[in-house]
Amino acid sequence: MIIIAIILDIFIILFSLKYAWWYPNLNKNKTRIMMYHMVSDQLDGKKKSGLRVSPEMFEKHLKYFSDNGWKFIKMSELKDYANVPKVVAITFDDGYLDNYTHAMPLLKKYNACATLYLVIDRHNNDWSVKKNPKHNSGVLAEEKKLSDSNIQEMLDSGLFELGGHTITHPYLPNTSLKDKEFEMLECKKILEETFNTKVESFAYPFGIYNKEDVDIIRNSSYDSAVTTREGTSDLKSKYELKRIKASGKDNFFAFKLRVQKGFRGFI
Ligand SMILES: [Zn+2]
Repeated sequence: MIIIAIILDIFIILFSLKYAWWYPNLNKNKTRIMMYHMVSDQLDGKKKSGLRVSPEMFEKHLKYFSDNGWKFIKMSELKDYANVPKVVAITFDDGYLDNYTHAMPLLKKYNACATLYLVIDRHNNDWSVKKNPKHNSGVLAEEKKLSDSNIQEMLDSGLFELGGHTITHPYLPNTSLKDKEFEMLECKKILEETFNTKVESFAYPFGIYNKEDVDIIRNSSYDSAVTTREGTSDLKSKYELKRIKASGKDNFFAFKLRVQKGFRGFI
């Protein structure tokens, strides 16, 4: 009997560390900036990737927000919704083709919208090796990316707006100040000229940045920048905005915890 009770206790403790259901909720007036990469099924025979949220799960997320009265906004609207309850900004990083094939129809179905942080040199570019030279699976380079005509259609639909995510997706700690400025500022110009649109927000590649990088953005014509740090932020931190991770490894319960608490758990 005692052994069963002990095993049960251990289970409850582990469960409560993995899923922080007991942790206080975030203020509902703080906009949830959701971070997605791909909307696609996991690859057969490959390790599960947090970057791939299945189309079925992505639809469940959108349905959850829609059914519970959340307002979808693009990042350029962030300042108009400060202190408004239940506001969510869907964001996608990098520019994967499935954002067009899988995500766009679902955004349309749920009357939602999104901001796409697009890498300019995204084709045949495995930027993951820049962060970790040991990482050379080639999966990222092989993954199909959006064409310019896909992107134009996404913008014309009104469902998407663009944000900057550099030209080559460099690892900023290894990049000179001059190159950083070029990567971060020139990508905005290229996007605005190529797609005849306004680009107001930026995403730090890999979410890795320092004060120098924040200063480049602050002194530019970008109006906001997002990180990969988990949680929500005030507009006074608008150049280092936290996001809520949507992970392909999560079940729906974990997704709801992340939306409510800003993170899933401690282990
Ligand atoms: Zn990225």
